[in-house]
Amino acid sequence: MSKIKKVGIMGGTFDPIHFGHLVTAEAARTQFQLDKVIFTPTGKPPHKKGYSVTPAEHRYLMTMLAINDNPFFEISRMEIDRPGLTYTVDTLESFYKELGEDVKLFFISGADAVLDILTWKDVDRVLSYCTFIAATRPGYPMDKLNEKISELKRMYGWEVYPMKVTGMDISSTDIRRRVREGLSVRYLLPKSVETYIQKNNLYR
Ligand code: NAP
Repeated sequence: MSKIKKVGIMGGTFDPIHFGHLVTAEAARTQFQLDKVIFTPTGKPPHKKGYSVTPAEHRYLMTMLAINDNPFFEISRMEIDRPGLTYTVDTLESFYKELGEDVKLFFISGADAVLDILTWKDVDRVLSYCTFIAATRPGYPMDKLNEKISELKRMYGWEVYPMKVTGMDISSTDIRRRVREGLSVRYLLPKSVETYIQKNNLYR
């Protein structure tokens, strides 16, 4: 009898990836007994039109460096290679086809995504393909999130699991600001990623 595999899809812009993301993926893997987690950097995020996002190849390479030493972590080029704007529904559909029916997908992302999820393209299909894991930072206002989760459950029967993550108090925005201002980013992200940022003169 074939055992259902549980696969986490770790979606994010990862601009840059940091220890908060890595801790989140590892927490999801252990709490939800996932067989593996596939980091999937976004290509052209539709919700970031008008913001400057670092070219996808840099974000992909930094993510690859960061996950290198965890045998349960993989990376996918799916979103960065797909032309046009990046919609999660297309990604989940492709993973569903690629990995087969014996796989249960978990989409892991920041809790803010849940608050906005009703604006996503084909959201009903997004949630039919996966169980959603919403990572929260310490001090995150849980009332709003819990309210949204109950609404999604009541109205659509959707499953969203909030997950409190220790160490998630690191943010890509803060790291970019620190680099720009010449402040230290040591211990916020893997050394290999810090070196990549320096060598490629990112976020200056
Ligand atoms: P974002 O809006 O940049 O991030 C919102 C918050 O969540 C930030 O605080 C961010 O922290 C955090 N976060 C993002 N990804 C995370 C992760 N995997 N684990 C823990 N925290 C995370 O979010 P984004 O990164 O652009 O998008 C998140 C995912 O949702 C992506 O896969 C994106 O493609 C998908 N999405 C899809 C649609 C759609 O299909 N229409 C719309 C919006 C988002 P940091 O800044 O420190 O990362």
